[in-house]
Amino acid sequence: MLGLLICLCGLLGLAVGSFLNVVIYRVPRGESVVSPRSACPSCGTPIRERDNIPVVSWLVLHGRCRDCQAPISVRYPLVELGCAGLFAGTAARFGYQWDLPAYLVLFAGLLALSCIDVERLLIPKKIVYPLTVLVALLLLLAAAQTGKWHAYVIGVICAAVWFAVFFTMNLVSPRILGFGDVRLSLVLGLALGWLGVGYVLLGFFAANLIGAVIGIALIAAQRMDRSNPVPYGIFLALGCAVAVFAGPELLRPFSGYSF
Ligand SMILES: [Zn+2]
Repeated sequence: MLGLLICLCGLLGLAVGSFLNVVIYRVPRGESVVSPRSACPSCGTPIRERDNIPVVSWLVLHGRCRDCQAPISVRYPLVELGCAGLFAGTAARFGYQWDLPAYLVLFAGLLALSCIDVERLLIPKKIVYPLTVLVALLLLLAAAQTGKWHAYVIGVICAAVWFAVFFTMNLVSPRILGFGDVRLSLVLGLALGWLGVGYVLLGFFAANLIGAVIGIALIAAQRMDRSNPVPYGIFLALGCAVAVFAGPELLRPFSGYSF
């Protein structure tokens, strides 16, 4: 029955991805994500119901507005497909477990934050705070249902430690580590700490490794130089994904050690 769960979560991911596109466009502009209805940014015509089907509509319209023919960014179908893939993968990873909803919410939030961070070097509070509260509540529910209170306590401690480390780094050098990343550390510490301290260390290590590799590659390709600000948020999100999905495999050699 796991296949059914994966399919359902994948479909849910398409719909959520469609909503994330609205979030990614509107939240940094200070607009409401609820109203008004989505409209073409070029001609202002409201998007018709039939043109609002994730991925399919973009393909049918060949990536152009039905009314003014203005190109629609390929980011829209990519976010929808990305979210569907993340949700299906998360369902496969957790199965019918009480903590599945927390990680679906986490990855939806991290996907939106990554897109905004890359585009604008910004991690909006309006997304990070609700995301942190929602993940904390969903994991609390999971702890209450499964009795894994020790995992929750470890998550809270990891969140506090990670926050303290980033807070200090931000004090020392606010240019290298923005306060948006400091805020984001809470939900990462909690969600990875719930899985175990090893996951937190792996997530942190993977984030910096991915950041370093991509940074060096971009400098080598002369697409940026050392003085460019870096969207660290997306590397934190990628590191978190590596820890969640590859953690059980990568941490196996250390499974003899208990934290
Ligand atoms: Zn248009």
